[in-house]
Amino acid sequence: MTDKYAVIGNPIGHTKSPLIHATFARQTGQDIDYLAIEGEIGHFAENVETFRRDGGRGMNVTAPFKLEAFDYATDLSEQARLAGAANALKFEGGRIFAQNFDGVGLTRDIVSNLAFTMRGRRVLLLGAGGAARGAMLPFLNERPAKLVLVNRTVSKAQALFEQFKPYAEGDFSWCSYSELAEAAEPFDLVVNATSASLRGELPPVPVGVFASGGVAYELAYGKGLTPFLKRAQDAGAAQLADGVGMLVEQAAESFEWWRGVRPETATMIRTLTVPLR
Ligand code: NDP
Repeated sequence: MTDKYAVIGNPIGHTKSPLIHATFARQTGQDIDYLAIEGEIGHFAENVETFRRDGGRGMNVTAPFKLEAFDYATDLSEQARLAGAANALKFEGGRIFAQNFDGVGLTRDIVSNLAFTMRGRRVLLLGAGGAARGAMLPFLNERPAKLVLVNRTVSKAQALFEQFKPYAEGDFSWCSYSELAEAAEPFDLVVNATSASLRGELPPVPVGVFASGGVAYELAYGKGLTPFLKRAQDAGAAQLADGVGMLVEQAAESFEWWRGVRPETATMIRTLTVPLR
């Protein structure tokens, strides 16, 4: 029998997940159906129950339901627990297993696809929302020499720092955007995990943070040269990337978790890539 999976979000019209998972299924010979479900705000649990009753085996979860998915789960992975949010669910009997693959997908894209070694390098992370939180443990596991967190609301950067301090081996700190500008210090990797680009805005990131020859990574995808990537380009960053690779890699992680087989990702990333111009 064909196994059923879905992505749930609201809105959901923009989602690439059905295309990605259908391609993975063809490529690996897996017999699955994968739907897009527009979840009703305030009715996440009922929507998921309905899908489970219809034989659903697992779900990807996107905005704004990642916190509700976390609360709905019976079994949390360490990554989901630390992120305080879930982006993938697996249903087995009465149990609901939750994972958060966003940070793992992001890190895999940077380390494997972009071939950027984080170990021993200087990394700057902008933002302290859900995506930044998910990135914390996978980033720290790569053992950068230095990791600095910056957020517009500084108390959130500080809270993230306090939560993840026990996992840091290198130099780990947080600061405000104005302190970042005063420090005038370059970073080998600058990651924009703010949602500013979704509105065409630039987080107040000083030009001096981009080391020449460094990498600038924008988590938003499909938006071309965002104000953040433009600033990085103007400042001399050697490599620019958006979050399309992260999207495909986190999908591959869920696919493997559900089906026990790892799909190839490079072709899908190429298919979905929008030129950065
Ligand atoms: P959240 O809403 O949880 O967090 C948003 C963050 O952006 C906050 O830290 C907020 O700061 C900051 N921010 C928003 N606007 C500005 C601004 N103008 N200047 C400076 N900081 C700003 O969002 P998420 O963490 O869920 O998403 C962040 C980004 O990651 C989005 O672009 C999203 O599309 C992308 N994403 C990509 C994925 C992928 O697969 N490629 C997966 C998940 C997310 P403050 O705390 O001060 O409000």
